[in-house]
Amino acid sequence: MPLDWRTKLVHPHVSVSEGFKSLVTPVYRGSTTLFESATNVTDHWDQRHVRYSYGLYGTPTSFELAARITELEDGAHCFITPGGQAAIALIDLTFVRAGGHVLLPESVYGPNRDIADRLLTRLGVESEYYEPLIGGEIGSMIRDNTQLIWCESPGSVTMEVQDVPAIAAAAHRAGVPLALDNTYAAGVLFDAFAHGVDITMQALTKYVGGHSDLLLGSVTIREDTHYAALGDTHQLLGMAVSPDDCSLALRGLQTLGVRLQQLEESAMTVARWCAEQPEVEMVLHPALPDCPGHDLWERDFTGSASVFSVVFTTQIGPEAIVRLVDSLTLFKIGYSWGGVTSLAIPYFDLPRRYRPYGSRLVRFNIGLEAVDDLLADLERGFTTLRA
Ligand SMILES: *Cc1c(COP(=O)(O)O)cnc(C)c1O
Repeated sequence: MPLDWRTKLVHPHVSVSEGFKSLVTPVYRGSTTLFESATNVTDHWDQRHVRYSYGLYGTPTSFELAARITELEDGAHCFITPGGQAAIALIDLTFVRAGGHVLLPESVYGPNRDIADRLLTRLGVESEYYEPLIGGEIGSMIRDNTQLIWCESPGSVTMEVQDVPAIAAAAHRAGVPLALDNTYAAGVLFDAFAHGVDITMQALTKYVGGHSDLLLGSVTIREDTHYAALGDTHQLLGMAVSPDDCSLALRGLQTLGVRLQQLEESAMTVARWCAEQPEVEMVLHPALPDCPGHDLWERDFTGSASVFSVVFTTQIGPEAIVRLVDSLTLFKIGYSWGGVTSLAIPYFDLPRRYRPYGSRLVRFNIGLEAVDDLLADLERGFTTLRA
């Protein structure tokens, strides 16, 4: 019997030629994926073993991105998550249990701290903050119930560069896994696994995306036991990602090399200019000597990126800082970074016991504008401090 046109809409009998070889990875969409036979039906997340079973666990587009990140970071496996914050949550919820204890650097990304303080606490996990420059002395803070140690280097906003190998050695002596937020290094300017890290994550939102138009994260590991544990939690939490966003991230990867090179050069130029201004007490840029842990950056990193912070002298109050930031025209005011646009954002009252900067700190992200135009914008902005 010929099919009704309504059935044809769902079960067409058309086909197009096979063998289209695009230079780039296509966007594969799909929630339902088909099994050859009812005997093959499974709902396991590990698509490498069971073949494709459900779009929630990944598509060829997201697996291509995961494989590319794995290759760049020299890991063994990678999970793509809906954002960098989701990657942090995935790690926490995989490695901690009620009754446990987590160590985080004081300079950790604010929302990572929020998960620890507000979500992990609710689950019966205690979090404790350590001096980011503690190095191997972290060993004395590790308890019997410590389940996870976080590093972030350089730290968010205050930019402390950490002695990751020393912290890794202490963690491993105690049998505790070490997780690193490697967003600043885009997964490439700091070799996490070579420095002893067990679990590395980044917000692909930043440098890999590179154009402020997507949100994605990644978690990369080497150990098969970590792969199994993370995969299980990834499935339970339903951390699906859009193939369209993965496709944009794959495109971002193609230009990551040239973007990072230009961003490093421009950011260094602007940071050095800032360091010469009389209103500036210091510039927290890992490649400049005032940055806490600068020598560790020289030892462990292969380059610097686009973000740094400026600490103004005590003569410059918060109103003056707001006036300066508001007066800039090329520097926009906004969170996130790693895109093509320069940004400036003041941070007042950061939770910092070790190096409190009070209300004197502005974080800059340098974009791909011509650096002389950025300097001219800042030059004009700094005159508002002298009014
Ligand atoms: C932005 C950022 C994140 C979170 O990434 P989202 O994709 O915005 O969730 C995590 N860590 C660091 C260091 C970041 O800068």
